[in-house]
Amino acid sequence: AAGGSAQAPRQYKLAPQRELRVEVLPDGPLRVRLVAGTAEIFGTELPPEGWVPVPPRSKVAIFTWHGATVELDGVSESEYTSDETPMVIYVNTHAILDARRSRARAAAAQGGVLEASQGPRVIVVGPTDSGKSTLCKMLLSWAAKQGWKPTYVDLDIGQGSITIPGCISATPIEKPIDIVDGIPLEMPLTYFYGHPNPSINPDVYKVLMKELAQTLDKQFSGNSESRAAGMIINTMGWVEGLGYELLLNAIETFEANVVLVLGQEKLWKMLKDAVQSKPNIDVVKLHKSEGVVLRNPKYRQKNRSFRIKEYFYGIANDLAPHSNVVNFSDVSVYKIGSGHQAPRSALPIGAEPVADPTRLVAVNISTDMVHTVLAVPYAKEPDEIISRCIPLVIPQVSAHVLQSLHAYSLRVIANKA
Ligand code: ADP
Repeated sequence: AAGGSAQAPRQYKLAPQRELRVEVLPDGPLRVRLVAGTAEIFGTELPPEGWVPVPPRSKVAIFTWHGATVELDGVSESEYTSDETPMVIYVNTHAILDARRSRARAAAAQGGVLEASQGPRVIVVGPTDSGKSTLCKMLLSWAAKQGWKPTYVDLDIGQGSITIPGCISATPIEKPIDIVDGIPLEMPLTYFYGHPNPSINPDVYKVLMKELAQTLDKQFSGNSESRAAGMIINTMGWVEGLGYELLLNAIETFEANVVLVLGQEKLWKMLKDAVQSKPNIDVVKLHKSEGVVLRNPKYRQKNRSFRIKEYFYGIANDLAPHSNVVNFSDVSVYKIGSGHQAPRSALPIGAEPVADPTRLVAVNISTDMVHTVLAVPYAKEPDEIISRCIPLVIPQVSAHVLQSLHAYSLRVIANKA
């Protein structure tokens, strides 16, 4: 049934292994309640009692393994049930990963070789809108439900689900992902790339992946439980040309041992051939769900803006960003990578132009920076910047206001709960 204005509360009786797919309008509100049986949204069970708000703009499936009656209240863009889902294949995949985790834990207890105590490092790949993020959520929530604390790594700088777009991040998942709050943000490890497109500076993207992977390795070496639980790695939907090269790079950098390929035979075949020479990497082809909603570039762009807003103001608008005033002379702004090589004429005689993609270039503070997100590093020295950035925004004021601010002051808006 299609949505419309004022919809009365309605109940759906779902047979086992069926799902109710719902698209929520940008201004919601829509809520769901379990009336009988059991049901889950992307791996997280609905509570037995009470209404659960479904966030605006979200597209979800309420799935039941054993049958359920659910009630919807509010307006939706669309809602329909389906009995064609790849959920059985997905949960079987989870079961295999789970067995590997148990083996890794047992190996750690016996104090065997380090290699054996490493749980599955799963990387999920596929074109845009193949359901990668959704599959990651399910695998994480199912694992967490069984007491594991897997690490979620999100390499998608365009639509990332951990912090603000333009970053790659990782965070431990200690309980099934909250339907309303999403991925927990208490202790993410974040590296700032600063653009939604990796082709702007792929070398920096690779360097950041390496930094992240090394930091995780360090954490795992002191934590056998995290090590055994392993990682679930989400990737970008760009699977051709440079995008494909970056995927291979990610597989190598994070030492992935399970590659789950969603919805593209060709990509599966290419990856399988590419990693063939390396032992112990399983490349598995999985069906894409027909329920995955296609999102056009405009929607993505909009979604990015929402994610940025959400980062500063919170999903429920419950964060209060505050401003700090600092002198221009007290801050240095750097850009990573020069973008283009210096012309030969600008170099000392005899010097060869070299483009160092990770070179830091000092930037003059100007009105060009209005509405840009910068990162504030913990770095003590400029050359530590790449590895020590957290994102902040400067300044959310119009160019006009910026000019009329005190001659050399700059507003930096920090995120404070
Ligand atoms: P990708 O990460 O590959 O770009 P996503 O996992 O983000 O794709 O899925 C795209 C959209 O489709 C998301 O909004 C997601 O919530 C939605 N979606 C995924 N699976 C289903 C489903 N079975 N029913 C309804 N919506 C779904």
